[in-house]
Amino acid sequence: MDSSKSRGALQDSTSENNNNNNDGDEEKDELCPGFQDVDAFVKYGLGAVLSATKASGALPQVGDEYDFYRSFPGFQEFCQSQGDQLLHCMSQIMQYHGCRSLMRDRNKLTGLEERFDLVVDSNDAILERAGILLDEADGVNRSQQPVMPAGFQPPKIVVSSWNRKSSGSGSRAETFRLLHAKNIARPQLKFREKVDNSNTPFIPKIFIKPNAVKPLPSCKTYRPEDLDVPAALADFIHQQRTQKPVEDMFAHPYQYELDHLTTPESLLSKPEPQASYINPTNCSFIDSLEDLVALNEKLCSLSEFAVDLEHHSYRSFLGLTSLMQISTREEDFIIDTLELRSEMYILNEAFTDPSIVKVFHGADSDIEWLQRDFGLYVVNLFDTHQASRALNLARHSLDHLLKHFCTVDSDKRYQLADWRIRPLPDEMVQYARTDTHYLLYIYDCVKTQLLETNHGQPGLLQSVWNKSKDISLKKYVKPIFTEESYLELQRKQKRSLNTQQHTAFRLLFAWRNKLARQEDESTGYVLPTHMMIKISEELPREPQGIIACCNPVPPLVRQQINELHSLVQQAREMPLLKVRKEKGVSSGYITFKQGVLFSEDEHKMDVDDEKKSGLLAQAKITLFQNDQESLSVAHMKARRIIEAFENPFRMYLPTSDVHVNENAKFDPSSKIFEISKRWKLQSIEQQQKELEAKRKAKADAKEQTKKDVATVRQQSAKGGGKKRERVASEVGESTPKPTKKLIKSAEKPQKTEPPPQDSFTPFDYSQSDLKVFAGMNDNTQFDPNRQAHDPKKKKNPKGQKSNSAAGNRSMSYMAGKSERGFRHNWPKR
Ligand code: AMP
Ligand code: MN
Ligand code: ZN
Repeated sequence: MDSSKSRGALQDSTSENNNNNNDGDEEKDELCPGFQDVDAFVKYGLGAVLSATKASGALPQVGDEYDFYRSFPGFQEFCQSQGDQLLHCMSQIMQYHGCRSLMRDRNKLTGLEERFDLVVDSNDAILERAGILLDEADGVNRSQQPVMPAGFQPPKIVVSSWNRKSSGSGSRAETFRLLHAKNIARPQLKFREKVDNSNTPFIPKIFIKPNAVKPLPSCKTYRPEDLDVPAALADFIHQQRTQKPVEDMFAHPYQYELDHLTTPESLLSKPEPQASYINPTNCSFIDSLEDLVALNEKLCSLSEFAVDLEHHSYRSFLGLTSLMQISTREEDFIIDTLELRSEMYILNEAFTDPSIVKVFHGADSDIEWLQRDFGLYVVNLFDTHQASRALNLARHSLDHLLKHFCTVDSDKRYQLADWRIRPLPDEMVQYARTDTHYLLYIYDCVKTQLLETNHGQPGLLQSVWNKSKDISLKKYVKPIFTEESYLELQRKQKRSLNTQQHTAFRLLFAWRNKLARQEDESTGYVLPTHMMIKISEELPREPQGIIACCNPVPPLVRQQINELHSLVQQAREMPLLKVRKEKGVSSGYITFKQGVLFSEDEHKMDVDDEKKSGLLAQAKITLFQNDQESLSVAHMKARRIIEAFENPFRMYLPTSDVHVNENAKFDPSSKIFEISKRWKLQSIEQQQKELEAKRKAKADAKEQTKKDVATVRQQSAKGGGKKRERVASEVGESTPKPTKKLIKSAEKPQKTEPPPQDSFTPFDYSQSDLKVFAGMNDNTQFDPNRQAHDPKKKKNPKGQKSNSAAGNRSMSYMAGKSERGFRHNWPKR
């Protein structure tokens, strides 16, 4: 836009802000020609935008008077010409910023919606660029480029004196691709288990525990048969039936194993020189169960591999792990975790094997995402980020390690790309691959260096192993909404709000949280914080005013404008009072407390409590503890159940009669059934039939040789009972076997295993008598290794390594699982 031309028209309203001397100093090479300084220019610009916005707001609205006015040819003509002019203007701006601008080309873009999207994309690109330039002006050098819309051509940046961008940066001038969300089908729709956004604490998803030293608590091995019941509620019911302590439900499933994990000598000494990272490697894309099973087999035979994840958070409430990268010394793998979400858990076999090192860089989030989305845990983690810290390197990012150890110039440009896109463009695959490809080499390097800087002593290296272990002990905590959650966010705004504004903020915050859970969107997608603040501050009288606070208007705001309007109205009805500001004593935050309208006691909490009750509540629930005085236990249970019933995700289930649940995995018709011997699942019915047949055959044989059939049967029944008792107590005992696997090569665990049980009674609610509910259930757990006694099947597929491990690998697995008719058959390895 030619600003000097339009300036005249607006001069009146802004003249006092302008130092408007036209005495020819515009000719100088100024930053803002015609203005004293940037501030003056900004003020002028804002004034112009404001009056333009006002004028457009005053135009007749569609569906209102617009249709009437449009019946006048003069009006129509005027609108047309103004519209064209505006589009031209916008196109020019977009072109200037290197964005695609097909605003005027009606053939290429069909609907208004598409054009609107184009504007939104361009706005994003322009704002991002502005942000980068401001950062640069601030001295922050953000070398990475933003992900830009398709057809983006890098703009000619006006290089001012402070912006010392090197002229050689032309090599970076590539075409970026914006992987815009609108092109991407929601992956959630394909998920077999629907996402649980209910406002209840996260319960670990794990129900089969490979490499267990301590078995899973029985409550964890139970899963609801009926997905209509939210997992949290089902677990609660189960817990009530079995009278198991509630802590079990929330505990880290590998706490015990990790607590007892010791770093073996071999991992504390100088690593053997490994093949260079430059070796060409294969990269496989894994999106089928067959390949995932094969990968798991492969990983189980290794002594280390590297892992990284890519994540998407904008179009999901809790976030989606969208990709997993794994690199071995020989190969790279990219796993489509959106496709294999329900199957990923099988990798626990390698991920929790204490004899296999898993190398991550900055694993904090990864550990949580693995738990949240797949029920995956890591035992024996090495975090190169922690190593970098211990080594006191200049920076601790992966880029820096790559540069430092591999002289690789990486480019984090795709870090924030939309990782849901499929098929993944080559550039993104390459990017993702780079994140793990060099990691094992870096692992060798940092290990060597940690020993060298510490004069060969393992102390420093040990500290990195310890820190890494602490990270793998992290538990995923679901964001819990409480009445006070909004305070945390409001505090950060450092704004003074009156009671009406405060109330609006609180109501809008609750609205967007509820909607985000319901629609499985991020709160930022539902209503970005800055818009929420704007609405709270302005408290628009009309729905149109709310819309005006939002640019661009979020789809859900448009859809729910009436609801939002009534919330704002509700806030406007509050008596107007100033909200007292209180300075947080220890946190240094400015904290807002409710105005005198509310009883102070009701909202009294100290700073620490506020922190805890903020957006992230602790997963540990105290609902069942008797020391809760304000509400009775029954009352609280009832409340929790009601909360749990608010499961809006039923709407995402294909049809009401289709059961999509955990147990799909146990369905003999599902693919997993026939994939690998190890992952073969057997129908319990079938198994029992077989057992029955065997027993019968045995009995028949005996019948022929012995005469007193009755005695034999009695004896065998007695024997079976004893066996069962012993097995149960063995598994249930809390003193664990030592983690021998770490030193497996030296170890020959040849404990003779107990004979297979010849009968097994699954925990079956449907046929259960009331003893079960009185806590007298038979908590039979079994080790499938004991059951799968077919020596022919146990041809060791992986050479010597697993050979020596045989017998020690235990899989904690609960009888309850098989009540749905199937049971895992875990051949010994
Ligand atoms: P990385 O470990 O660098 O591959 O990052 C993994 C995921 O973390 C990415 O896919 C992003 O979703 C997220 N992420 C990484 N860095 C950032 C950041 N600076 N801001 C927001 N999200 C990030
Ligand atoms: Mn990562
Ligand atoms: Zn990554």
